[in-house]
Amino acid sequence: KTPVPSDIEVSQDIVNEVGLLPIEDVAREAGLLPEEVIPWGIAKAKIHLKTTLDRLSDQPDGNYIVCTGINPTPLGEGKSTTTIGLAQALGAILGKKSFACIRQPSQGPTFGIKGGAAGGGYAQVVPMEEFNLHLTGDIHAITAANNLLAAAIDTRMFHEDSQSDEALYKRLCLANGKPFNAIMKKRLAKLGIDTNKSPEDLTAEERSKFARVDFDKSTITWQRVLDTCDRHLRGVTVGCGSKETIQLRGTVKGETPREQHSRETGFDITVASEIMAVLALTKDLPDLREKLGSMVVGYSKSAEPITADDLGCGGALTVLMKDALLPTMMQTVERTPVMVHAGPFANIAIGNSSIVADRLALKLAGEDGYVVTEAGFGADIGMEKFFNIKCRESGLKPKCAVIVATVRALKMHGGGPPVSAGKPLAKEYTEENIPLVVEGCANLCKHIENAKKFGVQVVVAINQFKSDTAVEMEAIRKASMDAGAYDAVVSNHWAEGGKGAEALGRAVIAACEAGKSEDFRYLYDLELPIRSKIEIISKEIYGADGVDFSETAEQQMAKYETSGFGKLPICIAKTQYSFSCDAAAKGVPTGFRISVREIRSCVGAGFLYPICGDIMTIPGLPTRPGFYDVDIDTETGAVIGLF
Ligand code: ADP
Repeated sequence: KTPVPSDIEVSQDIVNEVGLLPIEDVAREAGLLPEEVIPWGIAKAKIHLKTTLDRLSDQPDGNYIVCTGINPTPLGEGKSTTTIGLAQALGAILGKKSFACIRQPSQGPTFGIKGGAAGGGYAQVVPMEEFNLHLTGDIHAITAANNLLAAAIDTRMFHEDSQSDEALYKRLCLANGKPFNAIMKKRLAKLGIDTNKSPEDLTAEERSKFARVDFDKSTITWQRVLDTCDRHLRGVTVGCGSKETIQLRGTVKGETPREQHSRETGFDITVASEIMAVLALTKDLPDLREKLGSMVVGYSKSAEPITADDLGCGGALTVLMKDALLPTMMQTVERTPVMVHAGPFANIAIGNSSIVADRLALKLAGEDGYVVTEAGFGADIGMEKFFNIKCRESGLKPKCAVIVATVRALKMHGGGPPVSAGKPLAKEYTEENIPLVVEGCANLCKHIENAKKFGVQVVVAINQFKSDTAVEMEAIRKASMDAGAYDAVVSNHWAEGGKGAEALGRAVIAACEAGKSEDFRYLYDLELPIRSKIEIISKEIYGADGVDFSETAEQQMAKYETSGFGKLPICIAKTQYSFSCDAAAKGVPTGFRISVREIRSCVGAGFLYPICGDIMTIPGLPTRPGFYDVDIDTETGAVIGLF
């Protein structure tokens, strides 16, 4: 339709007027067998991971393409829309087997400032309400698992504070009369205690070591999570109930009064949690179990890392996550199959959908097929993490990076005025303005140069908006080619669906033919010291002069190196709006340094997590959040106002 209706109207029109293909049929056409598909209503299905991957293990992988963008601006770039539009062009228009792999959106931005993430216009996943709300419950499962572990930590400290070693051991290992289970044996082995011993056989010293993890409370890094933008949970005090705050007396004769149990902690948004990162980076069920069990939640008074398995929790976490491990399949407006799985933010987390969804799609696509996977926010963070963390973990080799740019957003990078919500756009954005576009192209060109450092072909997708002029778009094309892009094409998938992205599809096919998987390389070697890895990303990708580490960050680096975590890759948390830590510094800032406030560790997920500048790990809500516009038609049950 012209003009293109709102995203939710397009989605509802497709569902009501054209009709969805039953998801079993989408799955069958994608090459799945009925027994590999677990329908979740008509529009969604979970895919059995192991059986499907086992069956397809000899199948060669399809062409792997990452879709990323320039540094975002409030004017929007359309990475999800382009990911979907490109997959539609490759599939419905160019007749290739094609898949889009995207993240499940967080409820935080959906009701906050950004809206949903199903794509938009005639390049979106349908029904967008189901995609944007709850989906198949994976994020809820992550919240549940994360908070079970948080409860395990505080409860353990409570019990350790109020009981002697012997009393603790008795309750943990003797009272139920059962032998040591697998989780307990893991801890025995870690402590160097003979795992063949039965619980009664441990010496008093071994019993103490086993029963008391002995948290140093100041080192606990595990936070509770919630998938809502709720700034008031950034700092909270837990344990304020009367039973936790009274001076406890030990249950064993002669015990001294114990300390109080309230403690300051905080919440993160679920999509920034380590369990979300584990879901994105895990390879299969055994790997999920291993990663969840080895998550480090804090350190003991003797500086030993304490893991989820030390608290006996890794098995239960995996049980809570077992269905979440299976990717969800949906379809686009043109019935192209889409894998939706995991949803970590890109600024404060790894920003990429899951390895298992990509792997499944690559096998189903086969040698001549194409998988377009999206990396969140600007290429400086989402794409860098895709290459250096996700691809390193999976071993998968991408051939091509599609960098999405728009005339309007580049004008802002070129010095265009700020935009204010509720006010009409300034004429700089609605009328032709070549100098601003040309100036702003510097931001795009730096991303092109960065992508080329990884040995992939770069195709620039100029996501066309109605007000863009041919001369403006040509300026972007020329700058991209001068910066070394393989190709740069205008794409109009938002208004025209796959047909509008046909040229982009052809350019990507040609780039994949020109690209060689063997050329793909990482930016840094894992063996380097933590400091050097952070410096390499900051200098090579952001263009910083150097990095300043706080006292805390220095101490944390030293601790991680001695604890054996120094060889992990780096997942930097910083603003997405700029190459620097200053969100207002558009274009290509120079003469700046990156300041690292603290470095968290995600040992289970497998990376270190430096926090730079004043970035927050749970966002707040604006004065007028997205939820103001969301309602329901109580006659029909239709959702209104999601965007
Ligand atoms: P990103 O992934 O970069 O955050 P999205 O693809 O989610 O951006 O798009 C954000 C919003 O912009 C969506 O509502 C989408 O409909 C809209 N949009 C994307 N491309 C265009 C376009 N070419 N013209 C008009 N609106 C667009």
